Amino acid sequence: MTRPYDALLARAHAHALDYLHALPDRHVGATATRDELLAALRTPLSPQGEAPEAVIDLLAAQVPRGASACNSPRYFGFVIGGATPVSLAADWLVSTWDQNAGIYVISPLVAVAEEVAGEWLLDLFGLPQESGVGFVTGCQMANVTCLAAARHGVLRRVGWDVEADGLQGAPRINVVASAESHITIDVALRYLGLGTKCIQRVESDAQGRMRPDALRALLATLDGPTIVCAQAGNVNTGAFDPLREIGAACNAHGAWLHIDGAFGLWARASADPATRALIDGVELADSWATDAHKWLNVPYDCGVAMVKSRDDHRAAMTSAAAYLIQTQGVERDAVDWVPDFSRRARGVPVYANLRALGRDGTARLIDDLCARARRMADGLASEPGVRILADVVLNQVLVRFGEDDDLTRRVVVGVQEEGTCWLGGTSWQGKAAMRISVSNWATTEDDAARSVAAILKVWRQLRP
Ligand SMILES: *Cc1c(COP(=O)(O)O)cnc(C)c1O
Repeated sequence: MTRPYDALLARAHAHALDYLHALPDRHVGATATRDELLAALRTPLSPQGEAPEAVIDLLAAQVPRGASACNSPRYFGFVIGGATPVSLAADWLVSTWDQNAGIYVISPLVAVAEEVAGEWLLDLFGLPQESGVGFVTGCQMANVTCLAAARHGVLRRVGWDVEADGLQGAPRINVVASAESHITIDVALRYLGLGTKCIQRVESDAQGRMRPDALRALLATLDGPTIVCAQAGNVNTGAFDPLREIGAACNAHGAWLHIDGAFGLWARASADPATRALIDGVELADSWATDAHKWLNVPYDCGVAMVKSRDDHRAAMTSAAAYLIQTQGVERDAVDWVPDFSRRARGVPVYANLRALGRDGTARLIDDLCARARRMADGLASEPGVRILADVVLNQVLVRFGEDDDLTRRVVVGVQEEGTCWLGGTSWQGKAAMRISVSNWATTEDDAARSVAAILKVWRQLRP
């Protein structure tokens, strides 16, 4: 009997371990140019094909220079997160099992694991246990899913079935978001046919938090179906909109409150009362979007959509077709809760990671990284000419060098080239800033200290 998988998977396993073992020491950025990568990868598609071993070796050979080490413990760009060993192992199994996790009948195991993982998430986040849960590709699609449920919910209440009748001729929906909402909210509104021009912006304060007085004033002028998008965790500062006040205002007005908590929702899993206080009132919302591939540190890709009204969630997402064998009972068909039809069993690594971490391990994951972010901010702020631009309340740090946009951008590029760590730049309230996001389970105190030292070394070389 031939065993077509053995040799190839052994090879992939060896390449995977090489990659993982090199992570702590390699240059954190990608160093190859597009031309160099094209020279390595582009070839006319051969008629006869090539040896699979050679193809796998070729890809693996390009990784050290062609891929950034975005799961390195010293990668602080965007909000990325690594992959814990158990979640990576579970993800390997997911690929191996090759389950189409769209409907229960294909994969009862996956459907049940995702059902349980969803219950655990609602519990960790302190959200109503009866909420609908869908595992999607990321917070972008979680925002789409939640806002589709919102669109359905607010129109249903005024007697309009948007799933059947669409938006043409529908009652107008007021859409409210903060000046600081994430771009994926705009994109979600585009996908949903509401467009972006309809967004009424609410002013934010100096930390990037929606001003509840401004929201109340705006709501007082609005009639009819209304959706408010608030945020737990500003992508630059980590700041939280004051959710209890916002929730109270939305509930009083009868508006649907959606919360984008891509990484910030995880503050609720913290053991630190100060961190948990940031997200006080989160349960007052109607829907919540978050990521598992960021702070929970499961491999890409995995986001989570949660909607308090299961009926609105399901009505917005469900698919039915004659040939589908859908459950009539309590079994869960994922197609009812997500935009996808066929899909990856991406909730399984979430199940594995949460089960392995437990409540305390999840809290430690959150609290340790907040502590590392504070440590990095303190280390940088003690250097003359370096300023932290916003309160470090979570895992995000904004840094400015020499009160100078150009200098700040040059320090960012200098650090990227130096290679000890990687981080990006941003613009915060009109000022260029370095942006540090501490989101990887593997980032140690030593990684934080080495990164601060590397950043300061570059700054000392560049400062006037
Ligand atoms: C990352 C992020 C998103 C988008 O999430 P993806 O997982 O990249 O789709 C949305 N909102 C906020 C606040 C984010 O940080």
